[in-house]
Amino acid sequence: MKGNCTTFLATEIIRELMDDLDLIGNPRLVRLNPAVPWKTRGNGSLVMRFGRGFGERRLIGMIDGRELYCYDDCSDDSADVGSLMPRLERLVERYHEDDADPGLLISFERSDPSFYRRGLTEFLSRDVIDEEISRIGAHTFTIGCGRGLIGALCGLAWIPDDITFELLAYRMPGRWGTKRDVDPESIRRMDSAFPSTFNSWEEREHKVAMVPSTPCPVLYGLRGDSMEDLIPASEMIISEDIYRWVIFLTNQGTDDHIIREYQSLRPNASYLVRGTVCGYARHIEHSHVFIDVDTHYGTVTCGAYEPSKEFRLVFDHLIPGDEVEVMGEFRESPATLNTEKIHVVSLAPLMEKVSNPLCPECGRRMDSVGRGKGYRCRRCHTRADSAVCEERMRWILPGWYEPPTAARRHLSKPLKRMGLEQPCEFLRCVRQ
Ligand code: ZN
Repeated sequence: MKGNCTTFLATEIIRELMDDLDLIGNPRLVRLNPAVPWKTRGNGSLVMRFGRGFGERRLIGMIDGRELYCYDDCSDDSADVGSLMPRLERLVERYHEDDADPGLLISFERSDPSFYRRGLTEFLSRDVIDEEISRIGAHTFTIGCGRGLIGALCGLAWIPDDITFELLAYRMPGRWGTKRDVDPESIRRMDSAFPSTFNSWEEREHKVAMVPSTPCPVLYGLRGDSMEDLIPASEMIISEDIYRWVIFLTNQGTDDHIIREYQSLRPNASYLVRGTVCGYARHIEHSHVFIDVDTHYGTVTCGAYEPSKEFRLVFDHLIPGDEVEVMGEFRESPATLNTEKIHVVSLAPLMEKVSNPLCPECGRRMDSVGRGKGYRCRRCHTRADSAVCEERMRWILPGWYEPPTAARRHLSKPLKRMGLEQPCEFLRCVRQ
C-alpha cells in the first residue's frame, strides 16, 4: 500500500479501541517539514487521544457501519498501556507503508510544544527525540530505524492555532488499487455549494483535485475550514461505495511551515523572503523558470517548476525593480527558493524607448553616440543622456499568485483561505 495509508492505519486503531475507549477530540493529521529528504509521502503524523469521554459529543465518522463520535472532554482515567500496546503493534505491522520506518508512541503527557515548530522547520535526530520521549515517559514501538517516532513526537506537540479539517473517505477493500469511480461534476457542484471547502476542484483546468491517483485505500480527501460543512458537502459527491470515513483535524493549508523572522536562510526550511526583482526570468529546459530577487540576505534565486504550470508565467511578467514577497522551501544546491506562493507587492514602471531625443537648439532628432553613451546633435553639439520613453502597460497586477491545486504543498495556505483571489489568471497561455 502506498500514499495516504497512515491515515487508514489510524482508522484501524480507532476501530480496535472504539469498544473500550472514547475518542477525545478529532484524530489529528499533522503535516511536518515538507523538505525532509526521506519521502514518507507528505510527511504526516497521526495523533489520537483516547479516554473516557464526557460533555458534548460530535459525529466525526463512520467505521464499518458504526457511527464514530468524539468528545470534547475526558475524565482522568488512566488506560492500561501494557494491554494496549500489543493490540496496536499488530495493526502497525500490518498496515504501515512499505518504504517507511513507522513509529508508534503512547504517552499520558504531551511533548514540549517547541517540538511542533522544530518538526516543521528542522531535521531532528533520534538523539534529541529520545531524550524527550524518556522525559515524558512515553511507550514506543518501532519498525526499521523507527524514524516515524520523530514525526509522532512532533505531531503530539502541536497546540492547534490555525486549523483546518479533512474528511478522508476510504474505498471498499476489494477495490484497492483499481481505478476510482468518482463523478467530477458532483465535485464541481459541491465545491461551489460549500465555499468553506478548498483544494477539491481545479476550476482553471476543470479537473478534480481531491482524488488521489496512488493505489492507496483513500477514495478522496475533502478539505475545509468548517467541520460542520464537511459531512453535507461529502454527501453531494457521487462515487463508488465508501468503506469508512473520518474527519481529521489538521494543520494543512495553514502555512505553519513558513519561517517569517530569521537571521539567515538555512537549507531545507521554508521561508517568506521579501525583496526586489533584479533580473528577468531565466528558462531552463523550457520547463523550469528562475528569477533573482535582491533581499536583505543577498540575492536569492526563486524557482517555479514544471508541475506549477501557468504559475510560471508570473515570473515571465516580472521585471527588475518589482517588489515581491516569495514563500517557499530553501534548497542548498543550487541555492534556490522553491516557490510555493508569490506576492507581487508593487510594479516598477516599464519604460520603452519611442525615439531619439530632440535637440533643444534646432529641434532636430539627435543621433546616438553609442550604446549607453547618450545622444548628440550633429549640428549644435548639444547632448542628452536618455531617449524619449513612454510607459508601457504591464501584463500583471499586484497581488498574490499560487500554483494550481495539484502542485501545492499540503501545508501551503490556499489564497481562498486568505480571503484572496489572484488578481489575474494566465489561462490559455501555458507554455509547453
Ligand atoms: Zn541641434
